[in-house]
Amino acid sequence: MRGRSEPAARKDRALIFEVKGNSLDDGPGIRTVVFFKGCPLNCVWCHNPESKKAQVEISFDREKCIGCGSCLAACPENALDRAETSFIDRKRCTLCMECTSACPSGALSQVGRYLHIDELMAEIEKDIPFFRASAGGITLSGGEPSLYMDFSSNLLQRAKLKEIHTLVETCGFFDYRKFMEALYPFLDTIYYDIKIFDPTEHKRLCGAPNEKILENFKLLAAECSRDGKELLPRIPLIPGATATSENLASIARFLKESGSARVELLSYNPLWLSKLSLLGQSAPCGSVSSPGEWMPVSQVEQCRKLFSDFQIK
Ligand code: SF4
Ligand code: SF4
Repeated sequence: MRGRSEPAARKDRALIFEVKGNSLDDGPGIRTVVFFKGCPLNCVWCHNPESKKAQVEISFDREKCIGCGSCLAACPENALDRAETSFIDRKRCTLCMECTSACPSGALSQVGRYLHIDELMAEIEKDIPFFRASAGGITLSGGEPSLYMDFSSNLLQRAKLKEIHTLVETCGFFDYRKFMEALYPFLDTIYYDIKIFDPTEHKRLCGAPNEKILENFKLLAAECSRDGKELLPRIPLIPGATATSENLASIARFLKESGSARVELLSYNPLWLSKLSLLGQSAPCGSVSSPGEWMPVSQVEQCRKLFSDFQIK
């Protein structure tokens, strides 16, 4: 069986679900984004649901299936049944990945692989000319990079030796002292997600309390301001969850008190629903209003205006 789960505290390898080159969406310039697999939060609307579990998973895309049956013959556990909507009986599945090797169409695929730091750096270094030409660099994303603190520290230090710009996207749920020792010195920019201000609602919709996230942000804001590092708070606009005027006003007040002059609002993306179904999961009812629809521009504008009222760009 290929690793179902392994401890995250390794310096030389980590569980990664994608390394994406030529990204223009995750920081300045052209970037290579490393998506770690595993997150301490469990946000209902996570737009990368395949990043949540710190373990290898299997995905099935019915639209790609040509019905050849090779996987059925390959599975030693009899865990596959084309008559079932879910196709994979995930209780029986041991993640041996025999079926993904047998599948000719890519309908069955492994999500997440353990990458060695040397392998990852070799991939990143190929993109150095693009970083130089565009003032880009690498972005550690996820999932949550700080879940792999030692590996991320190692990766950032290796990048800095090559004079590569470094950025982390974090949910803020980390041990502050460890973050400051292991990651902060090797980071140029930090993108910091803040989702829900009310602690009870945060726990209900994100699966963990938010005190540590808010406290870490305040401390980091003071540190970044002293050191001249960029700290950009980001808020995903989720209809009926984060994108309520009460929640956004509370966050705006908090950001103002922390000295933030800018915020990035991330418009709602309903594609998480189809990603969830590839993993054999469905969204909990009633947690997001109109979950299958894109957010109207007028609503995004209203949210933006709310921050302008607090003189936050
Ligand atoms: S990974 Fe595929 S072949 Fe292996 S037990 Fe699961 S369904 Fe069967
Ligand atoms: S091997 Fe792939 S294409 Fe063939 S039946 Fe299985 S999932 Fe479908």
